[in-house]
Amino acid sequence: MPPKKTSPTGAGAAGTAVPAPESYNLMEHLEAENGALLLPPARVIIMSESAYTFLLKVIHEQSPHIVKYTFYDMGYRAGEQLMQTQTQRAKYPEMAFRYFVETYKQSGYGNVEVVSFDLSRPEAVLRGTNLFESDVAERAGIYRSPRTVDHYSRGMFAGFMSVLLGREMICEEMTCEFRGDPACEFLILPLEV
Ligand SMILES: [Zn+2]
Repeated sequence: MPPKKTSPTGAGAAGTAVPAPESYNLMEHLEAENGALLLPPARVIIMSESAYTFLLKVIHEQSPHIVKYTFYDMGYRAGEQLMQTQTQRAKYPEMAFRYFVETYKQSGYGNVEVVSFDLSRPEAVLRGTNLFESDVAERAGIYRSPRTVDHYSRGMFAGFMSVLLGREMICEEMTCEFRGDPACEFLILPLEV
């Protein structure tokens, strides 16, 4: 498909045309061979929500105080790794970020949209509904008070952004469907001002 001409959106240098956003279709990338499922360059597995619920429950039973940090860190490393395979996209950070959000969504983590992406601050806001972690938290029944629970997701957003921008970024979940908010809202911002 010939590249579409678009006007710069601010992501590129002045006078440099920013390429059209890439579309992503998970099903076009999946490959199965010899008992392995591949989403190149990675091998992937299908993990049911039940299995993830067991993982959450077991960690909670062993060390309830580390749940939040364990899943954030796990997500952070996954996000870092994901961005490390996308280095050619780093030229256009917003496009790379939107592409990543689309892969996140199509991988079944939840329905997430980019509310804002401001490279000058730098800061990004995401809004999500139907996130698998909120669902799993409900199934696990380990929380006795309302709270934000999507730690793997916010870790992933922070890890991806940290590599993308070449500086330490963090992600806070400001509202969460699990505690009755209309949506989960994530704010990604630098660790240090
Ligand atoms: Zn949430």
